Amino acid sequence: MNDPLDFTDKVVLVTGSSRGIGAEMIKAFGARNAKCVVNYIVDPAGENKKGAEAVAKELKEPLVIECNVTDPPQVEAMMKQIQDRHGGLDVLINNAGIINDRTIKKTSLAEFEAVVRVNLGGTFNVTKAASQILRQNGRVINLSSVSGQMGFFGQANYSSSKAGIIGLTKVSARELARQNITVNAIAPGFIDIGMSKDLPPEIAQNFIKLVPLGRMGDVREIVNAALFLASPMASYITGHVLNVNGGVYMG
Ligand code: NDP
Repeated sequence: MNDPLDFTDKVVLVTGSSRGIGAEMIKAFGARNAKCVVNYIVDPAGENKKGAEAVAKELKEPLVIECNVTDPPQVEAMMKQIQDRHGGLDVLINNAGIINDRTIKKTSLAEFEAVVRVNLGGTFNVTKAASQILRQNGRVINLSSVSGQMGFFGQANYSSSKAGIIGLTKVSARELARQNITVNAIAPGFIDIGMSKDLPPEIAQNFIKLVPLGRMGDVREIVNAALFLASPMASYITGHVLNVNGGVYMG
């Protein structure tokens, strides 16, 4: 019997995969025989490149691509590299994201737009360019957030971007269905990695009190959701938002 979580011959791109959830995702696909594409954004200290190379060391014949998802020419160049190396793309995970919390009163329009530009605009740019090379039966998985569903204090920019991703997921699901490509979102709750890891302990504890399962999520629980949505087991699921949040939001 075929293992539905064996991704042999599948080409998988995870944006923002030099660290955090994205790094764990691409490693999980690599461990299941996918042809992996690691993406990072350049930073002055070169930390992201180092991170991406460390991730790539755990993968077989990886492609490592520097690309800022907010920049359409860079995104198109990334797709061209993938097309030239692998002839197409099977799984796109729009994971790259940033956060910059402040109350609305203290947030400038530029600070609002900067987060929306990366999280929502980046997801749009990459989906648009990838749609040219995604193969039949392909998968797109977008990282939304419980913040986009509930609207957390101090997260006007982040919550708006993540709510927008839910709308974009549904539109993409309708438009890409003709190529038999499914598009779904994962809405993580509070995960013990990346942008939630270094929250002040009292804020973390207050949040955990709201979670019926009484704990933060483990990154593997987000990775598992992505593996499922990317697999043939999820072939009739599209336009869906999969909550992986310990029950904090049940809508
Ligand atoms: P991290 O900050 O650890 O990782 C985000 C990655 O995206 C980083 O590698 C970052 O680079 C990269 N990135 C940022 N901007 C760009 C850009 N313009 N182009 C390419 N890459 C970029 O965050 P997490 O791993 O925690 O989050 C991953 C995703 O999951 C995000 O979309 C986030 O919103 C979502 N999420 C996370 C939750 C959590 O609790 N951790 C909860 C809900 C959703 P750099 O290192 O330079 O910042």
